[in-house]
Amino acid sequence: MSATIRFDNSYARDLEGFYAEWPGAVAPEPRLLRLNRGLAAELEIDADLLDAEILTGSRAPEGAHTLAMAYAGHQFGGFSPQLGDGRAILLGEVIDRKGARRDIHLKGSGRTPFSRGGDGKAVLGPVLREYLIGEAMQGLGIPTTRALAACTTGEAVLRQDGPEPGAVLARVAASHLRVGTFQFFAARGDVGRVGQLLDYAIARHDPDLAGQPDRALAFLGRVIARQADLIAGWMSVGFVHGVMNTDNMTISGETIDYGPCAFLDAHDPAAVFSSIDRQGRYAYGNQPGIAQWNLARLAETLLALIAPDDPEQAVGPATEALERFGALYQEAWLGRMRAKLGLEREDAGDDALIADFLNLLTQGEADFTLSFRALTEEPARLESMAGDKAALRDWLARWQARSEREAVSPEARAERMRRANPVYIPRNHKVEEALAAAGRGDLAPFDQLLTRISAPFDRAAGAEAYELPAPSGFGPYVTFCGT
Ligand code: AMP
Ligand code: MG
Repeated sequence: MSATIRFDNSYARDLEGFYAEWPGAVAPEPRLLRLNRGLAAELEIDADLLDAEILTGSRAPEGAHTLAMAYAGHQFGGFSPQLGDGRAILLGEVIDRKGARRDIHLKGSGRTPFSRGGDGKAVLGPVLREYLIGEAMQGLGIPTTRALAACTTGEAVLRQDGPEPGAVLARVAASHLRVGTFQFFAARGDVGRVGQLLDYAIARHDPDLAGQPDRALAFLGRVIARQADLIAGWMSVGFVHGVMNTDNMTISGETIDYGPCAFLDAHDPAAVFSSIDRQGRYAYGNQPGIAQWNLARLAETLLALIAPDDPEQAVGPATEALERFGALYQEAWLGRMRAKLGLEREDAGDDALIADFLNLLTQGEADFTLSFRALTEEPARLESMAGDKAALRDWLARWQARSEREAVSPEARAERMRRANPVYIPRNHKVEEALAAAGRGDLAPFDQLLTRISAPFDRAAGAEAYELPAPSGFGPYVTFCGT
C-alpha cells in the first residue's frame, strides 16, 4: 500500500473534449458513513487515505483529475443529445489488484456544466439504496458497479417530500463509458470523435481488438455479448433495473445506476416498480428486448466506423451482430436457469421445462426467490406456493426424470443449486426498513441487511426475516428515481 492513492487518469489524458474539468462542491460538514474496506483493499488503496472530504468531492487528493463526463441518451425512447454527469464527477482511475483499471466516481458532488435544471445533489436514502443493491449484485455474481463509500454532506437538500440529508456515493466501475457516451458525438456528426472513443473503449475493455481493421464491428459484437450475459444474470435473480435508458447502459457490461430498481417478489413478467415507468417500457420481462433496442442505438453510432466509405454498407453486418443478441441471450439465460434447476448438460427440452415452471410460479403468484430455493432444499414446500398443485406435481416428475438422465449425485446437484439459488436478496421491505432507520441515524439495519446480501447463498442462523417476502400489507411497491 502506498501513502497516496495511485491515480492513472486515462480518460482525462486521452479524451480531451469528452468532459469538462470540474471540481466537487465543498460540503459544509462531510461525514463518512460507511466505507467498503474490502473494495478499497481490492483497489490497493490504503483505506485510511479515504476521508469524508475526499469522498464527498470537497477536496481532491493528490493525483486526482476531477471531471464531469459528457454523454447523451435515449430516455424512455426519446433522445436527449445533452445529458452528461449532472451531479457526479470522476475523481480518477486506479489499477486494481488484478491489474484492471477502475474508475472512482462521486455521485452527488454538486452542480456541473451538465446539470441542466438539477441541483447536482444526491440524498441519503437513494445513496444507501445504491450501495446495498450494488453489493447484492456483487454477491450474486452479476457484473456491477460497486459502492466504495457513502458520506453525508451536512447539507439539507430539498426533495419532493421536503428537506433530506445530502449525501455522496463513491462508486467504482470498470469504466463509466455508456452507450450514451457514443451517442453524444455521433449525434453531432463527429465521426472522428466517435472513432477516438472507440479506440479508447477498445484499449480499456477489449485490448485484443486494438488496431484491427474490423475492430468497430468486432467491438459491437463484444458489447452485445456482454450485455446478453448481463441481462440473463438480471433475469435469473428477478432484478428489474427500472430505467434502462441508453445513458444507463455500460460498454463494460456492468450494471450501473441503481435508481428505481427492485427485485421481484412474486414472479411476474409484467412487473414494474418505478413510478415514472407508466407504460411498463422497462418491465421485468421486457428487459432483454430493451437491451437489444439500446444496442441498436450503439450500432448506429458505429456505422460510419464499420464502413467509412459508405456507412450504408455497414447496416447489414451491424444488423447481423444485433440479431445474434437473441441467441447469445438465450444461451446465457439457459445456462443460468439450468444451474438453478441443478442441471448441467444441455437438453433440447430444457426451454419448455423452464418456461413451464415459471408459468406455474406466475399463475400461483409464487415468490421467485423462495420458489427456487424451495426446489433446491425441499420441493414439497412448493405445493403450498404454486396455484395448480396437480400441474406442479407433473412438473416435478418431469424435472426429476430430466435430472436422473444426468450422472450427477443428488448431493452434487443440491450443492450446485444452492450456489445458483440465493436465500437472500435485498427484499424491498427490508431495504425500505434499512433506509428509514438510517434516516433516523440508525445504521444497524443497513449493516445487517448488507451482511446478508453480501453472502446471499449462505443461510445464516437467526436471519429468517431476511428470507421472507414482504408482509401482505406492504405492497404494491413503488420506487422513485433518486433525483
Ligand atoms: P439518472 O436518472 O440518475 O440516470 O440521471 C439522468 C441524467 O440526469 C444524468 O445526466 C444525471 O447526471 C442527471 N441528473 C439526475 N439527477 C440530477 C440532479 N439532482 N442534478 C443534476 N443532474 C441530475
Ligand atoms: Mg444515469
